Amino acid sequence: MASRTTDTPHNVRELRNYVGGSFVDGTRTFDNITPVDGTLLARVHEADQATVDRAVLAARETYEKVWGRMPVEGRAKLLYAVADGIEKRFDEFVAAESADTGKPRSLSSHLDIPRGAANFRIFADLIKSVGTECYPMDTPDGKGALNYTIRQPHGVVGVISPWNLPLLLSTWKIAPAMASGNCVILKPSEETPTTATLLAEVMHEVGIPPGAFNVVHGFGPNSAGEFIARHRGIDALTFTGETRTGSEIMRSASANVKALSFELGGKNPAIVFADCDFDAAIDGTTRSVFANCGQVCLSSERVYVERPIFDRFVAALKARAETMKIGRPEDASTQMGPLISREHRDKVLSYYTLAKAEGATVVTGGGAPRFGDERDGGAYVDPTIFTGLSEASRVQKEEIFGPVCHITPFDREEDAVRMANDTDYGLAAVIWTTNLTRAHRVSQQVLAGITWVNCWFLRDLRTPFGGMKLSGIGREGGQHALNFYSEQRNICIKL
Ligand code: NAD
Repeated sequence: MASRTTDTPHNVRELRNYVGGSFVDGTRTFDNITPVDGTLLARVHEADQATVDRAVLAARETYEKVWGRMPVEGRAKLLYAVADGIEKRFDEFVAAESADTGKPRSLSSHLDIPRGAANFRIFADLIKSVGTECYPMDTPDGKGALNYTIRQPHGVVGVISPWNLPLLLSTWKIAPAMASGNCVILKPSEETPTTATLLAEVMHEVGIPPGAFNVVHGFGPNSAGEFIARHRGIDALTFTGETRTGSEIMRSASANVKALSFELGGKNPAIVFADCDFDAAIDGTTRSVFANCGQVCLSSERVYVERPIFDRFVAALKARAETMKIGRPEDASTQMGPLISREHRDKVLSYYTLAKAEGATVVTGGGAPRFGDERDGGAYVDPTIFTGLSEASRVQKEEIFGPVCHITPFDREEDAVRMANDTDYGLAAVIWTTNLTRAHRVSQQVLAGITWVNCWFLRDLRTPFGGMKLSGIGREGGQHALNFYSEQRNICIKL
């Protein structure tokens, strides 16, 4: 939970903005509170308009004089050093990510922090082999001409990131942006400011030129987020977060017609056919519904199960939900932590209440656990499964972003596809079947940026990633990211 403070708490960490190579105070601060037990973790310095302006100026100057002119090999070497620097302070990053988000350390140490480091290496490697196009052509007067493209960085790129996978998702953008030669202004989520600050320390330690990477802390509207979105000195903007926020950012950015890349929300379907490997489908669906407490844009909130195995599937998933160990991140046996904040817990619980009001059957959960210890000050909810709702219900339409799914039976493949596609979103889908022909057929019919067959969250980072419909604009990942983070210009020479 992040809330503004006016007083000065003692004995807590201070997180400052990183601007032009220096750590600088804000004019006011806000509290960073852990959802694990509600205690105060840090006092965060909020960047005002003047601080964001200074960051943009520093970024511009470094882009023009240093980073944008540095040979690719030099940039790649420094980005490798950033990856090494993250790994050198691995335990600190893991502890910070888990304290900010409440996620089990087993998750942040296997996913968030390793991927944060890997993102820098992957894009440092890719940028070394990026090519351009060249087309010889005939002109009307019979002479030849040569068309070729050059790639150029945009200049200054704004990155606005969410709280669910803080380091992983911000570096997914920072790394290709910097590899392409841009300087970056990062605005991490107000809920998770710590690993962004640690990343700034690493950038500082390994000698990234001052101004090439900047961190400004704060909120969205009337704060650092909006200052970035509106800023005339920022050439391109990449955002991950809620669809509604994406619309607001688009409005803010429209006056300056910035290049935009948006990774937004989802209401993702999983389709389970009766011919599936049942145990694998249960394992996979347990992960795709409950991992990271259901706070993954790719989570399955709508599960469609072919009728012959419906009762068995519901019973097996219920058993998994009810034996899930909920607890503190540092406890090695913890499988699920709290939600990001008590505010978000209230939102998720309001959907639990709504589901019941809409006539759902509560298979399991539907409330919040009581521990009788300090965790009661945290933001925990029960892993929850509903059945019995119509496709038109709000619980089936709106992204909840918690450890919850609704399971619907289906009789025919075309019914499953129709229901899966009956959504405004189009981010991810999962299909469980051992029928190869059906796997190909259905994965092409389901409208999603990524469709997994017999797996979930398996990512080759060279592939395009992004959403259809309200789930986003553009594709990032591999070459696709490098295309977004650069201007491609055409030069035509008559020979
Ligand atoms: P959010 O939209 O509330 O906030 C994201 C970021 O935007 C934060 O840094 C916030 O401070 C900033 N922000 C908020 N309002 C703003 C404004 N008006 N102008 C500028 N900045 C503003 O999202 P969240 O709650 O942090 O993250 C959860 C959401 O992110 C979910 O909807 C989830 O599906 C989505 N998400 C999508 C992907 C993807 O790849 N498609 C990945 C992760 C999360």
